[in-house]
Amino acid sequence: MKPALDACELCGRTGVETTEHHLTPREMGGSHLPTADLCRPCHKQIHALYSNEELAARLSTLEELRADGQIARYLRWIRKQAPGSLPRTRKSRALREKG
Ligand SMILES: [Zn+2]
Ligand SMILES: [Zn+2]
Repeated sequence: MKPALDACELCGRTGVETTEHHLTPREMGGSHLPTADLCRPCHKQIHALYSNEELAARLSTLEELRADGQIARYLRWIRKQAPGSLPRTRKSRALREKG
């Protein structure tokens, strides 16, 4: 399957590979509810920050996601990243100090 280049509905970057995000997670009954096309970093970030329960309860629309403090901060950062670059996860301080 060849990934199509598209626009991310959350960060708004174009020319990115998108994946389908169930705004209400399937596990929470969202199989037939709206989905959003998100770039990989955005999709990963959402699921890294929030559980399916939290997403279903208070972050089930793009507006709610954008209004969330932690996601808003992430969005300000990702918008400066080039579409093709997959951002690296920073090492924790403990790992860096080990050298
Ligand atoms: Zn994105
Ligand atoms: Zn998802």
